[in-house]
Amino acid sequence: MKKKEFKSSSKRVLDLMINSIYTNREIFLRELLSNASDAIDKLYYQSLTDKNIAIEKDELRILIEVDKEKRTLSIIDNGCGMSEKDLEENLGTIAESGSLRFKEENDGQKDVDIIGQFGVGFYSAFMVAKKVEVLSRNYASEESYLWASDGADGYTIEKKAKEEVGTKITLYLKDDTEDDNFSEYLEEYTIRNLVSKYSDYLRYPIMMEVENSQLKDGSDSEYETVKEMATLNSMVPLWKKDKNKITEDEYNNFYTGKFMDYENPLKVIHTTMEGLTTYKALLFIPSHAPYDYYIKEYKKGLQLYTNGVLIMDKCEELLPDYYSFVKGIVDSDDLMLNISRETLQNDKHVKQIAKSLETKIHNELLDMLKNDFEKYKEFFKAFGNQIKFGVYNLYGMNKDKLKDLLIFYSSTKKDYITLDEYVNNMKKDQTAIYYACGETIDKIDLMPQTEQVKKKKYDVLYLTDYVDEFALQMLKEYNEKEFKNVSDESLDLDSKKDKEKLKKVNEENSELLTFIKDALDGEVEEVRLTNKLVNHPVCLTTQGAVSVEMQKVLNAMPTDEKINAKLILEINENHDILNKLKSLFNDDKETLKSYAKVIYSQAKLIEGLSLDNPTEISNIICELLSK
Ligand code: ADP
Repeated sequence: MKKKEFKSSSKRVLDLMINSIYTNREIFLRELLSNASDAIDKLYYQSLTDKNIAIEKDELRILIEVDKEKRTLSIIDNGCGMSEKDLEENLGTIAESGSLRFKEENDGQKDVDIIGQFGVGFYSAFMVAKKVEVLSRNYASEESYLWASDGADGYTIEKKAKEEVGTKITLYLKDDTEDDNFSEYLEEYTIRNLVSKYSDYLRYPIMMEVENSQLKDGSDSEYETVKEMATLNSMVPLWKKDKNKITEDEYNNFYTGKFMDYENPLKVIHTTMEGLTTYKALLFIPSHAPYDYYIKEYKKGLQLYTNGVLIMDKCEELLPDYYSFVKGIVDSDDLMLNISRETLQNDKHVKQIAKSLETKIHNELLDMLKNDFEKYKEFFKAFGNQIKFGVYNLYGMNKDKLKDLLIFYSSTKKDYITLDEYVNNMKKDQTAIYYACGETIDKIDLMPQTEQVKKKKYDVLYLTDYVDEFALQMLKEYNEKEFKNVSDESLDLDSKKDKEKLKKVNEENSELLTFIKDALDGEVEEVRLTNKLVNHPVCLTTQGAVSVEMQKVLNAMPTDEKINAKLILEINENHDILNKLKSLFNDDKETLKSYAKVIYSQAKLIEGLSLDNPTEISNIICELLSK
């Protein structure tokens, strides 16, 4: 028989499994049992629509068989089974799996992360077995096949008789070593523990032959050992259990196993709705964004069960986009088993469930924000952008629902605060909510434009994410307080007297300012003197709706159209540089042109804008230095 090679991608995952020192390798049993359960689900689901499939519901089960002599552990299901082609496709390759791409991108990472993060299903068997056999018969076929592999150098498939439809997976356990004990997986005690830890909720009985001692017939003191079949799992899905009887560990194990996360969830939402529509839901807010969360391929959705049958793995209708990070399960008996994607969209029960879940999630988040702010910050770090995007998206349709979930860094508190907190702490004479944008908190802190606002003891929100300003502009105001970018030229913080004084200096110097503007050749809308800078000589502000940060974001998008903010160059009226500029205006206009270019370049650099002509500027600076 010819040995076939694993696809190269699978081979690498296999290597990883075989040489794994993953301390959690016991999860292999959970993976195989959940595959078995899925296979039974598939067969059962098929039988609902296909009259040719006759199954006895009561006979659906998973068996665990142990042979201590041969050191084998078998998992046997009477589910849908696999054809020869299925064996080839499902077990011969790990299709372009996320785990592999991740592994390639993060080479050198410990295997712990990737196994835990993605769960490699069937292949995890190789963490404990030196050889694996899969004997399977597909429900639609008379033929059955044996797939066998002893690891990385390939696998074989041959015809082999099997009476019952379904799959038998046999693991030939690795030999024990000084550090590693694989024999424990042959012990009833270990198997019982693993089943109850990870697979208790599976809907089909997981059965195993166990030894019990009982009184001998006709005797009241002599015991004998009898063998009998025992069901190891309670079969009640976790979401149907009384929530007061569920431990945190149970929730965590369920979540990490089912949703392939290596970290426990940040929040568990276990809820029931009774009424016209009834459902039970078990939802989780992950503690970190999945590796693919912020890319297009990420699919939101909740698992949807009806009458105990999984009818959809990712029902997206149940979650709004801004809560797309939520994972979980919804179980409602009000839905039809053969509901299709199309009818689902218009189903009134589905709509009601979605609405009710949205309210639940919202309230839980608000609750976390109020009662466990540290945790909320963690949440916001992972998924805040999604909430902000929700505010901005669809022309702000959902902004009012979401605005209270927003938090931003506050310059006075030096921590995150809500908009509500900001407004409540506003100074008496303060009319707007001030914000500043930049790459990092530290960089914003140094921005000249924030000086004037801080001088007034007003709080400034520091925005470091590209969606921030778009979200705030969509909100326009919070509690009737307008949002204002500190870099906006119309900031208007001065007293009437100061304003008049400033107007006067600008008028007195208007020829100089016009000269500088002309020297900059249309780059700025205006050059003016300002009293708002304390230490800095110059800064840039903007006129109109587009700020410098927005210009950066918009121009980074892949379109040909470039958008430019309307820039204003402001010069500190109290800085010595002004005197120098004035004297050059009188004596040496050529040099003044060079100065104009240099101070404008400085202002751009402070804003994080790049120079269009760095060589020219560098030459000018050298020229000036050599004078
Ligand atoms: P996953 O379960 O995440 O798809 P696995 O590597 O565990 O990945 O399994 C690959 C595929 O092999 C499954 O999707 C399923 O189609 C098939 N499979 C695995 N175990 C069984 C089984 N016991 N019965 C039928 N099909 C199975």
